Amino acid sequence: MNDERVNVGGVEVATGHFIHNQRVSSAATFEVRSPLDWSLTLANVARGTSKESDLALSAASEAFASWANLHVKERGQYLRRLADLIDDNVERLAIVECLDTAMLEESLRRRVIARGARNFRAYADLAEEYQSRRWASNGTHNTVLRMPAGPTVVITPWNAPFLLSTWKCAPALAAGNTVVLKPAEWAPLSCSVLMDLVLEAEFPPGVINLVQGFGEEVGAALVSDSRVRRISFTGSPQTGRAIGVTAAKNLVPFTAELGGKGPFVVYDDADLDLAARQAALMYDDAGQVCLAGTRLLVQESVRDDFLDRFTSETERHVLGDSRDKVTTISPLIHPDHLRRVEGFVERSLAAGDTLVFGGERLRRDGLWFEPTLIEPRSNDAEIVQNEVFGPVLTLQTFATEEEAIDLANSTPYGLSAMVFTADQRRADRFGLGVRAGTIWVNCFLIRDLTAPFGGTGISGIGREGGDYALDFYSDVKTYQVKEETTRG
Ligand code: NAD
Repeated sequence: MNDERVNVGGVEVATGHFIHNQRVSSAATFEVRSPLDWSLTLANVARGTSKESDLALSAASEAFASWANLHVKERGQYLRRLADLIDDNVERLAIVECLDTAMLEESLRRRVIARGARNFRAYADLAEEYQSRRWASNGTHNTVLRMPAGPTVVITPWNAPFLLSTWKCAPALAAGNTVVLKPAEWAPLSCSVLMDLVLEAEFPPGVINLVQGFGEEVGAALVSDSRVRRISFTGSPQTGRAIGVTAAKNLVPFTAELGGKGPFVVYDDADLDLAARQAALMYDDAGQVCLAGTRLLVQESVRDDFLDRFTSETERHVLGDSRDKVTTISPLIHPDHLRRVEGFVERSLAAGDTLVFGGERLRRDGLWFEPTLIEPRSNDAEIVQNEVFGPVLTLQTFATEEEAIDLANSTPYGLSAMVFTADQRRADRFGLGVRAGTIWVNCFLIRDLTAPFGGTGISGIGREGGDYALDFYSDVKTYQVKEETTRG
C-alpha cells in the first residue's frame, strides 16, 4: 500500500499505482515536472516494472468474469456514475492536467474534461442500445452476438492524456472488459486523479487499474503478457510497430492510433478568412495535436492573399502561461521534445528550405517555440514528410485539383485531412480521393463520438469510435440455429 499524496496546484494527487482499488508503491519512483516551469517538480510517482504489470493483470483477470457477467445496464450505471464524478471534478482535473501537460487550462475546463465524461456516458448508452443483427438464411436463424473479450491494456501518450484515456477505457469497460491503463511517463497525473473517482464510483476491485512508468519497462511488460486479450494504443508509429509485433506473437487484436501529417488544402474559391482562421488553430496546444493539418497546400492564384491573412491570424496568438486566459500557445511538453522540434527546423533550413516566419524558441529558460512557417524546397523534404508534433507548418502551392489530391496523399501518414472550398462537388472529389481516417470540409476538429476514428498508412491500424470500438473490444460471434429447433 502507498497512499502518499502530493499537492499539485492545490489538488491532492496520489503517487502510487492503482491496482485492485488500492494504491500500490514501487521500489523506484520517477520525477514528473511541469512544462510551465521546468524547475518545478510536481511529483515523484511510483515507477512500475514487470512486477506491477503482473499484479495489475492478475487483478484485471480475476475481476473479468463477474464484470463481464453483469447486465449491460448495471455496467452502464457504474460508467454514468464515473461520468458524473468527472463533471463534479472538472476544476481539479483541469488544474492537474494543465500543470502536467501545459494544455490550456481554460480549454480543459470548458471542453476537454467534459468530453472525457461524455465518453463514459456515450458508451454506456451505445452498449445498451446495441441491436444484434438477426436474419434467416439456409434454413437457420442467424444472430450476431458480442462477448466481452477479456483483460485489456490501454496505453496513452502525453498529449491530452485524460481525454485519450477515457476515449479508450469507456468502450472497453462498456463492452464488459477489465482494464489496465498505462499513461505516458511525461504526463501521468490526471489519470491518477481519475482513479480516485473510479474508487468513489465504487467500481468493483480490479475492473480498472492504473500502472505508471516507462514504456520500455512496464509498458512492454503489459503488452507481452499472455492474459491480455485486447491492446489499445495511441502514440507514435515507432512504438505502434513495436507493440504490433508483440501483439502478433500472442495473437491479440490491437488498435493503434498513431501520428499524423494532415494536408490542409485551400482552393481558390475558398472563404480565405475562414481558411486562415482555421489554419492558425494548427498552432494550438503548441502544435502537439496528431489531427492537425500541418501541411498547408494552397492553390497558386490565392497563395499571397491566403498568406497575408494567415500571417495576421497567427500574429494574434499569445505565447504564455497556460493558466492565463489570454494565452493561446502553451510551452512544449519537455526539453527533449523542444530539442526535437528545434532539430527539425534547423535541419530544414540548413538543407535550403525557406523560413517564412518563426523558427526560434522564445526564451532560454522556457519551453516555448514560436509559431513557425516554412516553405520547403521540395515535397521530399524531411519537414514535409515527417511529423514534427510542434508549432511548425509548411506551405506549398498547387495548380490543379489532381495535384492537390496527389500532394495530400504524398506522405506515409493518413490520419486527417482538411479542405476549404465553396464548391461541394470539389470537396466531394477531394473526400473520395484522399486517403485519411477523417476528412473535414470547411471545418476542423468537430467530432461525433459515434463516428469511426483512426488512421491509414503509418497513422494507424483499426478504428475506434461508436460501434467500431464496441466491436473491437468484443469477441463478435455468429450464432446459427436450425429453423426447426424447438424451445424446450
Ligand atoms: P510514444 O509512442 O513515445 O508513447 C506513447 C505511449 O507508449 C507512452 O505511454 C509510452 O510510455 C508507451 N510506450 C513506449 N514504448 C513502449 C513499448 N515498447 N511498449 C509499450 N508501451 C510503450 O508517443 P508519445 O511521444 O507519448 O506521443 C506522441 C505521439 O502520439 C505522436 O506521434 C502523436 O501523433 C501520437 N498521437 C496520436 C493520436 C491519434 O489519435 N492518432 C492522438 C494523440 C497522439
